[in-house]
Amino acid sequence: MNETQTNIKSANVENNHSSGRYLQTMVRFAFLGDKVENIFEKDGQQIKVITYDTPKKVLLEYFGGEMTDEDELCGCDGNGEEYHITTKDMSDNMKMSGCWGFCRGKSEIHLWHSKDVDMSELIHLLAHERGHMLNPLHRIHTKEEIKAEKYGDAARFAYDVAKILMGQI
Ligand SMILES: [Zn+2]
Repeated sequence: MNETQTNIKSANVENNHSSGRYLQTMVRFAFLGDKVENIFEKDGQQIKVITYDTPKKVLLEYFGGEMTDEDELCGCDGNGEEYHITTKDMSDNMKMSGCWGFCRGKSEIHLWHSKDVDMSELIHLLAHERGHMLNPLHRIHTKEEIKAEKYGDAARFAYDVAKILMGQI
């Protein structure tokens, strides 16, 4: 643990030299049983990114601790189309896509990702949830989802193109 913390520190020092303006510092991380809490700081605001070790656990957190296979999640896709899906089907979908998460307020992202998740998929998720934290906040759920999804799309585009520009594809 100590060694890892030291590594984080030195990584932050390097970041300080290269990209001060966009710096996001990892403040600390902690293993809390079956989840890991990562705390990042950006522009004086702390954001917790909490990762769970199974799809079921992040869904359970989403439902506040109680859930059956038949409970439904009501969501909305990037085109503003609403959908309803059981937690059982959701869990299966998550295993296929490799990640899923949600944000709580403007300072917490809860997620699960598989060890071999496609990086572009994970970046899309994180940017989508980060997007929910940024103004303007739409009261109409579908509008808010469309906004967040634009952040997800933009981040995925940047990642995919950067990989090509860097000759990694
Ligand atoms: Zn969303």
